[in-house]
Amino acid sequence: MSSLLELRNISMIFEQKSGMLGKPTPIPAMTDVQLSFEPGEILALVGESGCGKTTLGKVVTGLHKPSKGQLLFQGKDVWNMNKAEFTEYRQSVQLVQQDSYAALNPMRTILQSLSDPILQHKIVRSRKEAHDRVCELLNTVGLTPPEQYIEKYPHQMSGGQRQRVLLARAISLKPKLIVADEPVSMIDVSLRMAILRLMSTLNKNLGIAFIYITHDLATARYIAQHGRMAVMYLGKIVEQGSVHDVLAAPQHPYLQALLSAVPVPNPRIAKAKRELPLKSLDMPSIANPPTGCSFHPRCLYASQTCEQTAPSLAPSGKTIVSCHHVEKVPPWTIATVK
Ligand code: SF4
Repeated sequence: MSSLLELRNISMIFEQKSGMLGKPTPIPAMTDVQLSFEPGEILALVGESGCGKTTLGKVVTGLHKPSKGQLLFQGKDVWNMNKAEFTEYRQSVQLVQQDSYAALNPMRTILQSLSDPILQHKIVRSRKEAHDRVCELLNTVGLTPPEQYIEKYPHQMSGGQRQRVLLARAISLKPKLIVADEPVSMIDVSLRMAILRLMSTLNKNLGIAFIYITHDLATARYIAQHGRMAVMYLGKIVEQGSVHDVLAAPQHPYLQALLSAVPVPNPRIAKAKRELPLKSLDMPSIANPPTGCSFHPRCLYASQTCEQTAPSLAPSGKTIVSCHHVEKVPPWTIATVK
């Protein structure tokens, strides 16, 4: 039985132009990524800004054609699909962007913005049906009563309300998977939990799978508490597994450093915290990644092998880790931070 969606050894290389006559520089935004998604699951994809998370989201939603590798949707190669299959795939995999203001047409009301896709995909047959369906969708995402919102323009709504509209637009096409790219990073902290809870409800009630892209481990843990987590560094997945296993016993030195950087609310532990387990705080440029394991210039456990040879993902304990010396990396828990 095939997965809902599978990335097979996908690489995405952009070309950065340098002047009129200069040779374009290749930028490897994603390298050899392998991931699969099952129906109804939640996967949190975490990593620092510029690590390739958004590129991965755009590859999954068909906005970028990968430079290498295959993207399979229900077992079929997306980039070899016929027109009808490709349309079904694009309808089934939706993207919710970080910037809700940019994602909505400022000249169109919420009714107009939400009616267009469902009329275009023939989910409804008339403007009247579209109006009724938009009201149902607004109810589903908690914008009630819908009459209060339907004639508004995006600038007349708060960031949290616009993010709900984007979720309404995504579910209007009855997707099987939603890629939510930093959906709560631009809204007030007080409203973030409500949007995360809404996504959980849509996952449970409608069976929609989610890829939640974030740099924030706390919200990743919340939304994917029964799901999986994949950690990305400079275009590669370095550790993945169930959220519980990845966070209870992180094995990759980069993930251990990320967790050490999370502020601790307990003043005793916070006071006792020492320096981050890193040789350097600077992340190398993705345009010019280090040789071998791209984490080696920052890693406390790096050897000559790490400088020369890139490690592959391999099972280790309960998770899958990309590290030559995973058995030498000491176990990490919050209590070990002295
Ligand atoms: Fe560190 Fe080497 Fe493991 Fe990379 S492969 S994380 S450099 S120990």
